[in-house]
Amino acid sequence: EVRVRFAPSPTGPLHIGGVRTALYNYLLARKLGGKMLLRIEDTDQNRFVPGAEQYIMDSLRWCGIEIDEGIEQGGPHAPYRQSERKPMYRQYADQLIQAGHAYYAFDTPEDLDAMRARLTAAKVPNPQYNSITRAQMRNSLTLPAEEVTQLLESGTPYVIRLKVPRKEEIRFNDLIRGWVVVHSSSIDDKVLMKSDGMPTYHLANIVDDHLMEITHVIRGEEWLPSAPLHVLLYRYLGWESTMPQFAHLPLLLKPDGTGKLSKRDGDKLGFPVFPLEFHGKDAETGEPTVSSGYRESGYLPEAFINFLAFLGWNPGTQQELFTMDELIENFSIERVSKSPARFDQNKVRWYNEQYLRAKPDAELAQYLTEELSQQGIEVPADQAEQIAALVKERATFPADLAQEAQLFFQRPSSYDEQVISKKWNPQVSAALAAFAGQLPTAADASADGIKALLTQVLEAQSLKIGQVLQALRVAVTGHAAGPDLMHIMRILGPQETAERIQAAVA
Ligand code: GLU
Repeated sequence: EVRVRFAPSPTGPLHIGGVRTALYNYLLARKLGGKMLLRIEDTDQNRFVPGAEQYIMDSLRWCGIEIDEGIEQGGPHAPYRQSERKPMYRQYADQLIQAGHAYYAFDTPEDLDAMRARLTAAKVPNPQYNSITRAQMRNSLTLPAEEVTQLLESGTPYVIRLKVPRKEEIRFNDLIRGWVVVHSSSIDDKVLMKSDGMPTYHLANIVDDHLMEITHVIRGEEWLPSAPLHVLLYRYLGWESTMPQFAHLPLLLKPDGTGKLSKRDGDKLGFPVFPLEFHGKDAETGEPTVSSGYRESGYLPEAFINFLAFLGWNPGTQQELFTMDELIENFSIERVSKSPARFDQNKVRWYNEQYLRAKPDAELAQYLTEELSQQGIEVPADQAEQIAALVKERATFPADLAQEAQLFFQRPSSYDEQVISKKWNPQVSAALAAFAGQLPTAADASADGIKALLTQVLEAQSLKIGQVLQALRVAVTGHAAGPDLMHIMRILGPQETAERIQAAVA
């Protein structure tokens, strides 16, 4: 059975990169008939942000990403919150120590600072606690056994570090990148257990993926450098034969491609980077902050996930619109790209337009009715549906519907100056007046009927429709642009249309 997990740390709102990771995990689980887990990786208590966990779950729910096992759902491997699993990790650290693959390190923060300062002064490019530096540090590999026992007995603070081999090639097959080969000298002796007895991300992650029987680890590229270390941990814990398969997803870049899209970019670049609005606190000043979200900005979850699915994956066909079910059917890890995906703000808007316009008119009408009613405008049901059907072609967000609909409920209070100066003249004005005179008795008040009447009136004045159309639009709506004018007049009705024209020509 395929078992995948989304394993966020509740350190703040979920970034769209995180949502994409969750989505790809979900798509694979559903496609292969497996299970999707949500595990909260909260071992780093210093970075814990209140509300972040709830935010993550609300975001996934809004996106339609369903969790099979997790902190809310429970499951055979509960608890799914790492802080509640604390007692489970220690034995694995001990097991590694016994097998000689991990060791106690007693270095104080000052010792570590001094080491880093020494390496930096010697211009060592990437100062690390590794097989070379460990020889000079205070740990159970360098101190006599009695001293180690004494230090432990006297309660001296220590961490447990992984003993990374000095000269070894670590290789693993990444489902997206192919074979990844890393030399062990580039990996440091990562801390597995902190002095407070909490496991670090690395230990907890591997232990949990193993115990929870995870088959595929699908996560962001930023975790690729950790993967060789994870491979070592699987090996040293004796779990190599059931090690999950890895798939590291490509980076998400800023719209101009100049770098990684960061949590800070959103409001700076003028678009949300979070699924939902997030109310937080500034890390430095403690001032309340609000980060904008796709939901509150009027994006539909279907549009948002369709857009996200394409940030790093494509079906290999021309089709761009996919429902969640279609994504599930068509998704495969093999079609996930290695190269970074550039965030495209216009594309997500485009998706929203497609999904908004594809909604049944009755649903849009419902929204429109509610929205307008809040503005004190009551719309008859049949009219609301006609308006929604007409204005949706000009809307990107639901709020645009109400905006575009205003013209039906407000007579123009001013007229577009440019159109007036260019298109308005006594002849046009007279023609429009004649048209307004005939409208109320028009036999056919459909859009086509109104157009036929207009053409007929204009012919008598030797005018072409193109010569008056802009002026007529401004007379009826006040604006130079808008939805199809014949349909506007149809919905307004002959009487109201005629009165508006008469007011304009007067
Ligand atoms: N807790 C890690 C994160 O926040 C999980 C990384 C992984 O999936 O292994 O992204």
